[in-house]
Amino acid sequence: MADQDTLHRRGLMFILSSPSGAGKTTISRMLLEADDEIRLSVSATTRPKRPGEIDGVHYHFVDDAEFDRMIEEDDFYEWAPVFGYRYGTPKGHIRSGLKEGQDFLFDIDWQGTQQLYQKDEQDVARVFILPPSLEELHRRLQDRGTDSKEVIDGRMERARAEISHWDGYDYVVVNDDVHVCFEKVRSILHAERMKRARQTGLIGFVRKLMA
Ligand code: 5GP
Repeated sequence: MADQDTLHRRGLMFILSSPSGAGKTTISRMLLEADDEIRLSVSATTRPKRPGEIDGVHYHFVDDAEFDRMIEEDDFYEWAPVFGYRYGTPKGHIRSGLKEGQDFLFDIDWQGTQQLYQKDEQDVARVFILPPSLEELHRRLQDRGTDSKEVIDGRMERARAEISHWDGYDYVVVNDDVHVCFEKVRSILHAERMKRARQTGLIGFVRKLMA
């Protein structure tokens, strides 16, 4: 018997944005571990690798010439400058994946979100994660221990700018407690999958139901 979960559906582009340090990377990791149907869209970036990051897993680390070439060859869905480096979403297998029901998680900023939304509004679900306070954000950036004071100051400045785009998102979640935040984000993903337009197998199912 066909239930809703076995009906074919179109995949979605699930976008998580937040200022750095608000917990987006942790939430992304938790979501990828908990859910087999969503895969990370790995961005390309010109920024140097941080300790612990793996090429091809966290990012495709490329130099400026390679990034230029990718732009010229129209390899990007979207790209944007962030903190003096460039970041972009390679098209890769996204379009065919969506058709087959594969969901993609995007950890991108508001500029990339706007571009994806303009290109592909119906496939996109946009979630913004807010820190409980700017003091807490500063503390989390310091605790991370990966960036210099100048970089942290720059990120704090940019956090204010990023937060000002909160109203360009479909959902906004405050990350006070990471587990609570994760459950909220997961509920959003589950509900978005149930949207009628994404359940492409419904027409046939209802036709049979009524026959
Ligand atoms: P980080 O250097 O801390 O990994 O990322 C810095 C910022 O770049 C984050 O806000 C992240 O969401 C954003 N970012 C990462 N990949 C992409 C991308 O492909 N496109 C855009 N527009 N932003 C990205």
